[in-house]
Amino acid sequence: MRTKTEETAEPLIENNNKESVEEPLKPQPPQKREILWATAIYLTTWHVLAVICTILYWKNVKMATILWSLLVGFIGQFGVTAGVHRFYTHRSYKAKVPLQIILLACYSVAGQYRVTDWVHDHRLHHKFSDTDGDPHNANRGLFFSHIGWLMQRGHPEVFRRSKTIDMTDINNDPLVQFHTKYYWFFKITLCFILPVLVPIYCWNESWMEAIGISGVLRFVIFTNMTFSINSLAHFWGTKPYDTRIRPVQNMALAILTTGEGWHNYHHAFPWDYRAEEYGGNMTNPTTMILDLFAKIGWAYDCKTPSADLVRQVASKHGDGSWSEVPAECK
Ligand code: ZN
Ligand code: ZN
Repeated sequence: MRTKTEETAEPLIENNNKESVEEPLKPQPPQKREILWATAIYLTTWHVLAVICTILYWKNVKMATILWSLLVGFIGQFGVTAGVHRFYTHRSYKAKVPLQIILLACYSVAGQYRVTDWVHDHRLHHKFSDTDGDPHNANRGLFFSHIGWLMQRGHPEVFRRSKTIDMTDINNDPLVQFHTKYYWFFKITLCFILPVLVPIYCWNESWMEAIGISGVLRFVIFTNMTFSINSLAHFWGTKPYDTRIRPVQNMALAILTTGEGWHNYHHAFPWDYRAEEYGGNMTNPTTMILDLFAKIGWAYDCKTPSADLVRQVASKHGDGSWSEVPAECK
């Protein structure tokens, strides 16, 4: 079931920079970069290992293992897009308990950090997009917004503005608390042990190929796909909905991230469960799956803006590339 949500025709002011408009960021001296060496070495090691594994194991890996790695990657991605992003961060739909369990299990397959941290950082990102209060402020460059922000201490404004983020819903969610308590167990089992053991025991893949491709390479590639929304989707693409912000529409990224590349729209209407105006299609399989869950009643109160509101915002603030959604896509 979809709920048409008539929010303000100025959703960006509401959802992004209200606080920074009321309380402008003060000019500050250039920040001394403080590298978090342990994290920097940890992340670099994963990437070096991924390159080594590709060189060593690409030739002999079985096709079934490659397909399995893609499947595991997309399951994890569903946990990120439908789970921590659209459900936990934006509350763009409601989910029955069985679906919440599926979302959390899928999220563990992605092997990213704790739900609480993901939601907190992403709420901060929307509220203070591309300012010093944004943890991965794209104005600090492509590398910084992609992965560099994790390798250094956050800007003081990030810590200051953190206090304005309401996390009550997450802190009071018993399933999230359970997931957080056993975070490492779920992550190691679902992101690494199972994805590696299945190829070995189901189609006799060799240990090293399974670890190298289904474990390391799959994890690194899909983690970078998530990172690319913070970086590439704030750099290259069109702005049919709002030219006043950095996020852009980028179809290639939408395909790679199962529907998260329509980022200009998403920042304009973050409470839309589709994260896109057109809804479920091959560039947005996350929405297609959510629609299936809506059919059986596990996902409900799925929010979308009215066509009128989208038209108003696009005509007033867009770059002119917006066009009416064709009737067959509605
Ligand atoms: Zn963004
Ligand atoms: Zn978002």
